[in-house]
Amino acid sequence: MKRQSTIGLEIHVELKTRTKMFCDCLSEPLKKEPNINICPVCTAQPGSLPVINKEAIESVIKVGLAVNCRIAEKSWFERKNYFYPDLPKGYQISQYEAPLCRDGYLEIDGKKIRIRRVHLEEDTGKLLHDQDDKYSLVDFNRAGVPLMELVTEPDVTSAVEARKFSQELQLIFKYLGISDADMEKGQMRVEANISLDMGTKVEIKNLNSFRSVERAIDYEIDRQKEILESKGQIAHETRGWNDNKQQTFSQRVKEEAEDYRYFPEPDLPPLTFSAEEIEKLGNAISELPNARKERFKREYKIPDLTIENLVIFKNLGDFFERTVSELKAWLKSGKIKTDLDKLIKLSANYILTEFPKYIYEGETKITPENFAELIYLTFIGEISSSGAQEVLREMFLSGKDPSQIIESKNLKQVSNEEELEIAVETIIKNNPQAIEDYKKGKETALQFLVGQAMRESKSKANPQILAKLIKKLIK
Ligand code: ADP
Ligand code: MG
Ligand code: ZN
Repeated sequence: MKRQSTIGLEIHVELKTRTKMFCDCLSEPLKKEPNINICPVCTAQPGSLPVINKEAIESVIKVGLAVNCRIAEKSWFERKNYFYPDLPKGYQISQYEAPLCRDGYLEIDGKKIRIRRVHLEEDTGKLLHDQDDKYSLVDFNRAGVPLMELVTEPDVTSAVEARKFSQELQLIFKYLGISDADMEKGQMRVEANISLDMGTKVEIKNLNSFRSVERAIDYEIDRQKEILESKGQIAHETRGWNDNKQQTFSQRVKEEAEDYRYFPEPDLPPLTFSAEEIEKLGNAISELPNARKERFKREYKIPDLTIENLVIFKNLGDFFERTVSELKAWLKSGKIKTDLDKLIKLSANYILTEFPKYIYEGETKITPENFAELIYLTFIGEISSSGAQEVLREMFLSGKDPSQIIESKNLKQVSNEEELEIAVETIIKNNPQAIEDYKKGKETALQFLVGQAMRESKSKANPQILAKLIKKLIK
């Protein structure tokens, strides 16, 4: 029986601000040494007072604008009261009635997934149970780290769609620079609410990879289906995801709605925003992934899949564009004469296939200017493609320009026919059998001969020229 699955997502993201949400402590939630970024505010000492981190507010508003939300003219924080040992105050400062952003949407494959709200709260500390036999220990480095929560309407209808939505959001966060949103590092955590045929919904907590988002939802849909098929009842509960068993498991049955006794935080002033302030933040947003994708499609004659990858790996896409502007400048100055589209395509391919071998992120010594030159030299046959890889490696390590490297490593490709003729003649003389085979129409024999001549030339010959010469001399 076909059943309708309904899915709503709740996504938490640690913001990449310099300091914590309500104090001056450095925000470094991954810090190894415990309890070094703490103060009276984030450890809830009596009499301490919170102060709002403006950078965190601005980050959330940028997210709201990027996902088409209405930004609140007036917003405030509230206390969410509950007891847990990693929560020093006995309440979390969060938002309830008046979140910063509401009523947005994000398009996935042409379908709008509505976003109910985006709000700001503080992260909790961390409990460590495996450090001591008798006690659990608590590390407050993460307590008070700015945490953004984004909640969707139940518009998602499949596990794949949930995964794509989460991935697109992550990319937007990275483009906005508000969080690295690395799921493995716990900087982004996904919770999925799932129901079938508008029945009881089940919540799966703390999914920490895109793969587990997809797998856990698929598993849960199947599990609920089986229960309904055998006329059973779905329990209203919170479940976890066991990545080893690839199963969800019951964590807590929700008998009644939890009562957090929310009330406005008396120690913080309400926030108000003017249209000008919001507009200014909107103007500070640089190009978002979708816009980049569309622009690349308009501007460059490269395959869609290549474009997808240049968008997903933003730093590679940035490097690609800087390379293209170098190439364009050269072409304009008359320094090079060739088909720009071909150079652009070659650049994109080299960047996507070669660069990840050396870097994923961060500093490297290679410059777009030098890289553009390497592309050009490869294109005109000044070096072979294997030579180019060797040069590229050196460029990453030393930052030298390619012609210097080609010179010093003696990598210049030989394309001059006269220079290559001797090598080819020797090869032809020594391989009568291969010549016979080729004359009988065996193409691989030609490849063999080119390989032999290549070796004879100490890997410096241009293989296209070698093939051409061999064919000519056999006749
Ligand atoms: P609760 O009050 O139980 O927290 P909410 O209405 O606040 O439920 O919604 C929490 C999340 O659950 C949201 O992401 C929402 O989209 C999702 N959700 C709401 N109703 C359903 C449903 N019937 N099936 C799946 N998800 C749902
Ligand atoms: Mg919630
Ligand atoms: Zn602090």
